[in-house]
Amino acid sequence: MAQIKPNNTYKINGVTVNEKIIPDGTRWKNSSKAAKAGFRAGALYKKQKKLTNNTGKPLWVTIHNTDDIKNVRDDGEQYTRATYNENMKSARVHFFVDDICAWQNLKAGTGKSKNDREGSAEAGWHAGDSSVTSGGNLTSLSIEIIMNDTKAHDRKARDNGARIAAWLLWKHGLPIDRLVTHTYWVNNSAGKTFSDVDRQCTNPIAGKKWCPAYIFGSSNQKKALRRWKKFKKLVQKYLDSEIAKAGE
Ligand SMILES: [Zn+2]
Repeated sequence: MAQIKPNNTYKINGVTVNEKIIPDGTRWKNSSKAAKAGFRAGALYKKQKKLTNNTGKPLWVTIHNTDDIKNVRDDGEQYTRATYNENMKSARVHFFVDDICAWQNLKAGTGKSKNDREGSAEAGWHAGDSSVTSGGNLTSLSIEIIMNDTKAHDRKARDNGARIAAWLLWKHGLPIDRLVTHTYWVNNSAGKTFSDVDRQCTNPIAGKKWCPAYIFGSSNQKKALRRWKKFKKLVQKYLDSEIAKAGE
């Protein structure tokens, strides 16, 4: 199938974002694909609900990793197309980011496109916590950083992800400790909460999602914690420069 075209293209902190937000009112069409994802044909294709008690204000930014697709240059386009073709089961994320650009699938309240006005950030399906009011799906923006390719690819994809994460934190007035991992929400769902947010971000739970696995770079908790903190430092650097720019 031909590549899909974005509705709008804009830049966030130097990264090109192709906006292809799933329109409100989109419904599952293919009944067998819907069933595989736990839905029925005719059901809403995304949550279609504003974040955080319908305020449209995110409280967190959640980082994920997903796999690079072999022999594909624009991986985010491929993931977005798969989403539009009902091939991503129930996963709905705000941004897919790789080494060349990002693709936006859900409203994030950026104010950068007429489809994504300020205060319109919507819920995704990425944190594995269904419709828990204080959970990751209903309170956080999600970024899937596409990695597991060459070192150069992964370094750039990670950097692009950090730039977008920093900009979103800045845009929504959130401090760096509101940057969390998918695994943070896994712990939350398992009733495990730590006063140290980074500890919770990197606490493995057997048989549950360990994500962002490539940023963690290891299944060893100590190593993962070190690498997560390194990533956070990079985001902090970009966040500081956003704050400085805004103050000029
Ligand atoms: Zn994840």
